[in-house]
Amino acid sequence: MKTLDQIAAELTGYDPQALSADTVNAFLAKLVEPVTEVQQVTVFEALGRVLATDIISPISVPPHNNSAMDGYAFDGTQLSPDKGLSLKVIATALAGKAWLGTVQVGECLKIMTGAVMPPGLDTVVPQEFVTLETTPAHCITIPAGVVRPGDNLRLLGEDLLQGQPALRKGELLTPAVLGLVASLGIKTVPVLRRLKVAYFSTGNEILSLGEPPREGAVYDSNRYTVFGLLTRLGCEVIDMGVVRDEPAALQVAFEQAARQADAIITSGGVSVGEADYTKAMMKQLGDVAFWRIAMRPGRPMAVGQIFRDKLASSPYSVRASSSELESNPPGSAILFGLPGNPVAVMVTFLAFVRPALRQMMGCSASALPLLQARSLTPIRKKPGRTEYQRGIVSTAADGALQVNITGNQGSGVLSSMVQSNGLIVLHHHQGNVAAGDTVSVMMFEGVI
Ligand code: AMP
Ligand code: MG
Repeated sequence: MKTLDQIAAELTGYDPQALSADTVNAFLAKLVEPVTEVQQVTVFEALGRVLATDIISPISVPPHNNSAMDGYAFDGTQLSPDKGLSLKVIATALAGKAWLGTVQVGECLKIMTGAVMPPGLDTVVPQEFVTLETTPAHCITIPAGVVRPGDNLRLLGEDLLQGQPALRKGELLTPAVLGLVASLGIKTVPVLRRLKVAYFSTGNEILSLGEPPREGAVYDSNRYTVFGLLTRLGCEVIDMGVVRDEPAALQVAFEQAARQADAIITSGGVSVGEADYTKAMMKQLGDVAFWRIAMRPGRPMAVGQIFRDKLASSPYSVRASSSELESNPPGSAILFGLPGNPVAVMVTFLAFVRPALRQMMGCSASALPLLQARSLTPIRKKPGRTEYQRGIVSTAADGALQVNITGNQGSGVLSSMVQSNGLIVLHHHQGNVAAGDTVSVMMFEGVI
């Protein structure tokens, strides 16, 4: 794994005191590495997991040419553009059971959707287009122009072809992917192990649920939003509660977190001028950079690695004996030290932590897509920083997307996140937005 200095040297314009959102993502993409351990799980268990290897189709889907409609199958070369066609119905082919006869010129087969198409036939006319004749009986007439040769025929392997890659390594197992795997007759799939992420809140003013209210203190909300964000992402969440701003307590928390988790997320204690021990402890236990990001809300963030082998030798270590020291797992846990403000936590998570964790999960698609929407109001914006405003996105009468901002955009106003269904992303160089201008929106409804 690279050191922070090595990564910084690879990036142009890296200034830890004034980082653009794009540079943050570029930095994190170089820092994190995907998990490698593979587990074999059933299709049901695979939802939300990440595929560990390519899957080659063991069969073709569909496994045979078949009818896409309920209708009549025949040889399409008999069609002529300006003349109807009369055919004799000689039998019926049902789905699930191959009909083994042969159909001659002038004949057709009544066929159901999904039924195997007999050799020599290539066209199905839907039943609602034909006229049933009474004389002679068992005959149909197809009017001119209702079908072309080859219509309503599903070809063998048109979805998935035997021997070809059906899915690529890194694919997130969505509902559609589960169905596709099952369509191949595959019962279990190799997935990467779940990413383990430990989280704790810091700050002496932060109360855990169950504690009585106290003057100057606030209840811990970040722990719950981060739990929700991580769970929706498919991570194994290690909840470590609220940690006092004391060196010993912080060290124990980092130690336990780093020992169990691939990544550690904290909130609070990373802003400039914080009179606390959080930053000092991060520095002591790892290779950590303290950033000021040109963004709003957010700005301060600590990023780096907490080294597992540094933990046991620190003064407050709870692991004293040398045998325990030896069993300390090698490597490091990635640290995301988020600011304390509840909206800033969610915004920095969505903008930076989520794509980085996706990469650690081994997932090929990482960033949330940005949509374009018409702003219903003017928005004040300073060029030179990325702003994330809470937006309510809806569909306008003309079918285009439109977006309104929620009222109070303060970085502690969590109700603005509740009211919104997406973030308006005002890019680094962008200035004021006039009503009617198009802005980027990052939708999070259904995603987080
Ligand atoms: P800090 O980044 O530690 O300076 O915190 C910034 C603001 O966020 C302060 O008003 C904190 O009280 C608040 N805050 C920090 N952590 C939490 C938390 N876990 N839950 C709710 N508010 C928090
Ligand atoms: Mg604080």
